[in-house]
Amino acid sequence: MNLLSIGGSDPSSGAGIQSDVKSFSELGAYGLTVITAITGQNTSSFGMIEPVSKKILENQLESVLNDFKIDGIKIGMVFNSEIIKTLYQQLKKIKIPIVVDPVIKSTTGGALIQNKAIKDFQKYIIPLATVITPNRFEAEILSKLKINSKNTVEKIAKNIQKMGAKNVIITGIEGKNNQIADFVQERNTKYLISGEKISSTNHGSGCNYSAAIVYAIANKKTIRESVKFAKEFAYNSIKNAKKVGMGIKITDIQN
Ligand code: PLP
Repeated sequence: MNLLSIGGSDPSSGAGIQSDVKSFSELGAYGLTVITAITGQNTSSFGMIEPVSKKILENQLESVLNDFKIDGIKIGMVFNSEIIKTLYQQLKKIKIPIVVDPVIKSTTGGALIQNKAIKDFQKYIIPLATVITPNRFEAEILSKLKINSKNTVEKIAKNIQKMGAKNVIITGIEGKNNQIADFVQERNTKYLISGEKISSTNHGSGCNYSAAIVYAIANKKTIRESVKFAKEFAYNSIKNAKKVGMGIKITDIQN
């Protein structure tokens, strides 16, 4: 199975395309990558971002699409409108499941998308999504609604679904008794999948989760099965997180 990760490069290998390649290999899939931006970051701080040019973005995509049979695509960091529109042009007709992880800010505080590009993200990237996996914070930014008793998680998920995503999974909904749930708006049905919460500040857990979702979807698992699978994969990766650098731990299920 070949899976493609489209996203940013993280030199600490905790998040972004490096993390995805590791997750895909751990899961037994071959990982391909298309880099949208190069970041300078580590486990303590976030430095620079340099987006790639339209020309090399297109060439990377053509290179992998023309050569490999790709079973699933994950889109992570996209950074600016030019990248967003270029991806849309090349992916709009593709019949491969696409998982969108709408990353906005890193745990260390780096802005992974320009504020002014969020509108284009809603217009061009969200409609490409077979599944979109925002956490609470990302769901609030995309819907421009704060989760409260009036703006329920369900309302926010439906709002994001109306932007064109087929299925919406909002991760990290705190529950009682040390449980944490994902809210799933699957076409016309909704449900929660709960699991045990482990408190830990890590680098890369969101990436691990969405990488596992695309693997499961590409394996023709249902949305419900995929969420259960990804929750377990992310749980284990958080549990096995290691302090590799001097800052926060890096999630890595492999050792
Ligand atoms: N850097 C890149 C390139 C990413 O794609 C992401 C998340 O997807 C992050 C950093 C943020 O990772 P975290 O918030 O887990 O530190």
